[in-house]
Amino acid sequence: MTEADIVVIGAGAAGIAAARRLEQAGLATIVLEARSRLGGRAWTRSLDGFALDLGCGWLHSAPENEWAAIAAARGFTIDTQDAPWQREALALNFSPADQEDFAAARIRFYERLDAAAEKGDRPAADLLDGGCRWNALLNAVSTYANGVELDRLSTQDSCRYRDLGVNWRVREGYGTLISASAAGLDIRLDCAVTLVDHAGPRLRIETARGTVTARAAIVTVPTSVIASEALRFRPALPDKLAAAAALPLGLADKLFLRIDGPEKLPPETRFLGAIDRTATASYHLRPFGWPVIEGYFGGELARALEAEGEKAFAQFAMDEFAAVFGNGIRKHLHLIAASAWAQDPVARGSYSYAKVGCAEARRALAAPVDDRLFFAGEACSTHDFSTAHGAFRTGVAAADVAAAALRTSVPSARRSGATSD
Ligand SMILES: Cc1cc2nc3c(=O)[nH]c(=O)nc-3n(C[C@H](O)[C@H](O)[C@H](O)COP(=O)(O)OP(=O)(O)OC[C@H]3O[C@@H](n4cnc5c(N)ncnc54)[C@H](O)[C@@H]3O)c2cc1C
Repeated sequence: MTEADIVVIGAGAAGIAAARRLEQAGLATIVLEARSRLGGRAWTRSLDGFALDLGCGWLHSAPENEWAAIAAARGFTIDTQDAPWQREALALNFSPADQEDFAAARIRFYERLDAAAEKGDRPAADLLDGGCRWNALLNAVSTYANGVELDRLSTQDSCRYRDLGVNWRVREGYGTLISASAAGLDIRLDCAVTLVDHAGPRLRIETARGTVTARAAIVTVPTSVIASEALRFRPALPDKLAAAAALPLGLADKLFLRIDGPEKLPPETRFLGAIDRTATASYHLRPFGWPVIEGYFGGELARALEAEGEKAFAQFAMDEFAAVFGNGIRKHLHLIAASAWAQDPVARGSYSYAKVGCAEARRALAAPVDDRLFFAGEACSTHDFSTAHGAFRTGVAAADVAAAALRTSVPSARRSGATSD
């Protein structure tokens, strides 16, 4: 039996941020993490000599992103160039005139979304203009941004997302950065929590490696873990189960290919596999000038390819490249790695979206229970959900509310709103 003031469940961006804040507040804190590594959905792998992010890669809203400040303080190499999706795509299959036309259609679509969100919630797909030639591509972009097609996306929730439109990255990898920021924290790896028993005066937290007791806990696991009851609460928390189920994880996967003779492709550019269908990937060519292609797959396409295995992603990508560059390119492309976030048992997806009618679920998920169970993680953020900085902010917010609650030590007093928003 181990004892702590407070336990943080999960060592991803939210859990690490929360634990650091609690440590600064002088609380004896233990982090329990199911995986044998840190970072959760932030995961950099060193492959073929490159730091490749299989999870988050972009410091969105960079000038305000706390991870950017941490990266600078820790001496990481920050790249501030525009992201490829903010520049023109390769013209080979997407003429500049068509790109302009698509950009205008996209703006009109988002204006309709904003207007509709003020009146209530409905599927984002309802706001597509029936006669628009770009609907399939708008849907594809939704699978990259939200992990899900527009017919399942809450208009209200997606309109609450805040984006400064400035995106940076770190050469060493976002996952490396987030893991490095955990240095010195008391983190127990390979320690999956199965039950949080909050019936008695102290919490009893059952894990794969024994029981921990604590005065309070911050739960940062993905919504999929709560909704599937891989982690349970006793007494049960039906409101949390409902909120987690209303915020499922969409799916986005990455594929990394090495290219021989990289000069065939311009560095730091973007190539869309197709412009007339939803089941297509977006490719970042030669990030950092490396001889690497990073493919991004979302929604149903990613789900289908995951079911077939890593090679299916590579095959799909090679077919898309061959259709534009000719068959000769196939022999120059080699699989390095692909992610499979839906099959990852402690993620079960990539990032949360709200089901239609469920935008308020983010606040419900973030609300504390009895001033000793607190919730954080990207899905708890009303405006920065689905991001690593959103996860950071919810972790810090939950830690502050938890630390204040422990100081007053009035266990029955209820507080409202541990959200960062
Ligand atoms: C392909 C992909 C691309 C992305 N791109 C970006 C991007 O460019 N920019 C961006 O900002 N965000 C991006 N994201 C999203 C970002 O990675 C996540 O929003 C963020 O990392 C989530 O952090 P978190 O702490 O909320 O959750 P997690 O990182 O999932 O952390 C939760 C932790 O809980 C652990 N856990 C689960 N169950 C248990 C249990 N029972 N007991 C103990 N521990 C448990 C998990 O192993 C995990 O470590 C991307 C994600 C993916 C998958």
